[in-house]
Amino acid sequence: MGHNMNTFLTKGAKNKKVEVMGLNKPKVVILGAGYGGMMTTVRLQKLIGSNDAEVILVNQHNYHYQSAWLHEPAAGTLHHDQTRILIDDVIDKNKVNLVIDTVTEIKKDEKKVVLENGREIDYDILVIGLGFEPATFGIPGLKEYAFGIVNVNAVREIRQHIELMFAKYNNVQEPKEDLLTFVVGGAGFSGVEFLGEFVNRVPELCKEYDVPREKVRILSVEGSPTIMPGFDKELVDYATNFFERHNVELHTGTLLKECTPEGIKMAKGDDIIEVKAKTVIWTGGVQGNSLVGEAGFEVNRGRCPVRKDLRAPGHDDVFIVGDCALIMNEETGRPYPPTAQAAIQESYVLARNIKKLLDGQTDLEEFVYQPKGTVASLGEKDGIGIIGNKKVFGGQAAFWKKVIDNRYLFLLGGMKLVLKKGKLNMF
Ligand code: FAD
Repeated sequence: MGHNMNTFLTKGAKNKKVEVMGLNKPKVVILGAGYGGMMTTVRLQKLIGSNDAEVILVNQHNYHYQSAWLHEPAAGTLHHDQTRILIDDVIDKNKVNLVIDTVTEIKKDEKKVVLENGREIDYDILVIGLGFEPATFGIPGLKEYAFGIVNVNAVREIRQHIELMFAKYNNVQEPKEDLLTFVVGGAGFSGVEFLGEFVNRVPELCKEYDVPREKVRILSVEGSPTIMPGFDKELVDYATNFFERHNVELHTGTLLKECTPEGIKMAKGDDIIEVKAKTVIWTGGVQGNSLVGEAGFEVNRGRCPVRKDLRAPGHDDVFIVGDCALIMNEETGRPYPPTAQAAIQESYVLARNIKKLLDGQTDLEEFVYQPKGTVASLGEKDGIGIIGNKKVFGGQAAFWKKVIDNRYLFLLGGMKLVLKKGKLNMF
């Protein structure tokens, strides 16, 4: 499967070419190779010639990973290599220089970006696509003791940790319920998708580690009155029923108050309930990468309210894409939720707008988000969603989810990438 593990190195590989080439060409620097940054790069390389600009893509790792698939490797139902792609395999190296490093600061007034190794890169045009980080809303202990489904490194640890809890169970004395008590904080999209995978994985783990299923306790803690707040009622009812059938305790209308090394405290009305659990996974909210606010851009939960052409207010040389950008839904007066779907759509307009700037044009295109629907998986074979304006459930939803996942791979790297990394078990 995929590449040899050694090819997925992190950091260290510095691209010396950057300093010596293209001194007179305009410099386009793209930060982050997530959905937004990666797709912007791939679109841009199709639009420009190698002499039009020096394009530099800066990313923490030499791979692009699909955040929207991370619940699967976290639960252990998919190998994490299936969610990641070597960036070198999709960029045109005649047009794009990849710098593998971590951005530590954006100095917008000096038009520079600072990297972890102390090096600075200056830019003429900057694209910020640094993605999301967990929002913990000041809940004590979450940062220290809860896991987050945030990147490849994090989900690898979650999978290993879960297995270790099962492996330990038969080797320790009572009381030991905390080993097999799993708390998922937040039952929005990613929490529900993780739970959907996890309930499918549990029977396998029980079998592998000789643990009776009834010893495993799975709790979902959600502040709103239902799981998947904001979703269509019929879909929510379907998902609720799915979890009840799989013995997940749904604690809706319940606030996670604190996370400790022993477990959690949650509040249901006036009652404070303590649950001993060695595994707490927080999926209760995300915010934009804090580097955006730290750089002095206007932010709302880390997301910069971009102009219609996707540039930051007051900065004609800075575009912001994906979860770092906040785009208003003018019909509802509320921001669109941060999604891969939005990041991908933005990248098309963004690449065309960069091309316009490089050509000296000032009539930039305006971005209009076109929601195509949403599908949440409930494990590999089940799900709920809306495609266009049609509701889908069960196997049909699972099928659409795979179509969506494969479509993205196709947009990024064509049929070759679909065959290599796609979900080909469609039915
Ligand atoms: P990301 O994809 O997060 O990419 C950011 C990139 O920046 C990463 O490559 C990261 O390594 C890099 N980076 C970060 N910081 C630095 C730094 N300091 N220096 C260098 N590089 C850095 N959306 C949907 O549309 N549909 C779904 O079904 C869906 N399901 C989801 C399920 C889960 C479990 C999760 C967690 C999210 C899901 N989402 C879904 C949301 C979607 O994943 C995000 O909206 C999307 O990833 C945002 O894309 P992005 O390009 O802004 O950032």
